[in-house]
Amino acid sequence: MAAKKEEFEEEKALFEDYIRQQGLRKTVQRELILEVFLMTEDHLSSEDLYWLAQKKDPNVGQTTVYRTLKLLTEAGLAREVRLGDGRTYYEHHFEHEHHDHMVCTECGRVIEFFSAEIEALQDEMAAQYKFLPTHHSLRILGLCEQCQERSVDIKTAGSGAQPRVRVKTTIN
Ligand SMILES: [Zn+2]
Ligand SMILES: [Zn+2]
Ligand SMILES: [Zn+2]
Repeated sequence: MAAKKEEFEEEKALFEDYIRQQGLRKTVQRELILEVFLMTEDHLSSEDLYWLAQKKDPNVGQTTVYRTLKLLTEAGLAREVRLGDGRTYYEHHFEHEHHDHMVCTECGRVIEFFSAEIEALQDEMAAQYKFLPTHHSLRILGLCEQCQERSVDIKTAGSGAQPRVRVKTTIN
């Protein structure tokens, strides 16, 4: 993915600036973690990113990944997402529009959505309570389409010990 790496120049520059501001060193490992993160368009936990980075460099440690993710968040490149399973996930923040999530409690699938109406209503509610919102995350938990179908299948299979269509037995 040599071509794709070029696209991350801006992100890399941002990160380097932030690291310098913090009086930290730019390291090969930090840069690798950033690259792996940017190349993965998904919601990743620290462990997920650790396993992906491990594949590229077995010397990358779990603590380094965790700390780098914190730095990425502070630098505005990543944002934390909670999907309801008690773990912290990270997703791209830089030049990624705000969105909210629907989370399937069965398979973990995450659907991203955005509704201008919902956003406006939230602002209205906040104003009504004289509340100044700084950020929010709206999470809808439930079953995705596939899992709904699967649970229907299981129900039919369960009650379907007897075949619904009676098989004709032909006696010769
Ligand atoms: Zn929202
Ligand atoms: Zn599902
Ligand atoms: Zn998301």
